[in-house]
Amino acid sequence: AAVQQGHNQFAFFDLEMEQKSKARLTMLAGMKRALEQQEFELFYQPKIELSTNKIAGVEALIRWRKPDNSIVSSSKFIPVAEASGLINEIGLWVVKQAAADCKAWHKLGFNQLGVSVNASPEQFKKGNFGSLVLKTLKKQKLDPSYLDIEITESLFIEDEKNIQAQIHQMVSHGVSISIDDFGTGYSNLNYLTKFNASTLKIDQSFIRNMMHERNQYHLVDAILKMSQAIGIENIAEGIEDKSTANILMKLGCRYGQGFFWSEPIPQSEFCNFLQSWPKRRQSKLTA
Ligand code: C2E
Ligand code: MG
Ligand code: MG
Ligand code: MG
Repeated sequence: AAVQQGHNQFAFFDLEMEQKSKARLTMLAGMKRALEQQEFELFYQPKIELSTNKIAGVEALIRWRKPDNSIVSSSKFIPVAEASGLINEIGLWVVKQAAADCKAWHKLGFNQLGVSVNASPEQFKKGNFGSLVLKTLKKQKLDPSYLDIEITESLFIEDEKNIQAQIHQMVSHGVSISIDDFGTGYSNLNYLTKFNASTLKIDQSFIRNMMHERNQYHLVDAILKMSQAIGIENIAEGIEDKSTANILMKLGCRYGQGFFWSEPIPQSEFCNFLQSWPKRRQSKLTA
């Protein structure tokens, strides 16, 4: 009976796996269509300088708007895009679109504004991501110093020479590198200075809990002190209230990002946001 039961259970898991891989295939086909039909779009979330509440930069976050107008979040489709390799094509589209939008902001008068784009480790595997990014910027006529690439610590588990070469190539042309979700991945800190990262983005899981968990608070404090000691900029992500922003500023955090200031905003509404910010930023100033 035990064997019988075990067998049934196994058959059950098989079916579930088959359904999951079917769903993935459907999603993959959908994403290929989405690239052709331009169903992807970028939302933008500002990065705020805590002491002034000025917009110091903007992060591009991809969304998939289906023909029925429903929106698929990146956490749903990015993993499938990564597993299939389609992330390479999607990632270059993101760079192209973000560069074009950044040019448009400059023309509106926000001529110092830079844009950050997320890149998965998968995008570095082929070895030509760095040169494709530079080529895309050239085509869009955006100076590389306006682009920041957000990578995660897990990238440094990969083939080090290949990745270092691509990052170095981009950095030598003026692109800056941020370490996203800092504190949640690989723990070898050597890479921080080796890879010319310019900013640490402290992961939102620390920020969310730092007000009621003493250890989280101390970790954030230590990360901020470390970033200052080695001369790397810092930003805290996932700030949802004024008191967290306040404490972070007192701990020496320079920049912040989160729903407290703004959720990610569709590209079509972002110019309005930029233009209305000077009037609104006073009300969000940390004391
Ligand atoms: P991430 O780069 O760490 O982005 C931060 C995520 O936190 C975003 O989710 C953002 O909407 C959300 N967020 C921002 N402020 C707050 C806050 O105050 N509270 C809370 N609860 N959440 C906040 P999103 O847009 O769903 O993106 C999820 C992840 O998907 C990103 O994490 C990034 O790793 C990935 N991703 C997004 N766009 C792209 C892309 O164009 N290419 C690649 N390769 N990955 C992307
Ligand atoms: Mg990011
Ligand atoms: Mg993050
Ligand atoms: Mg992330």
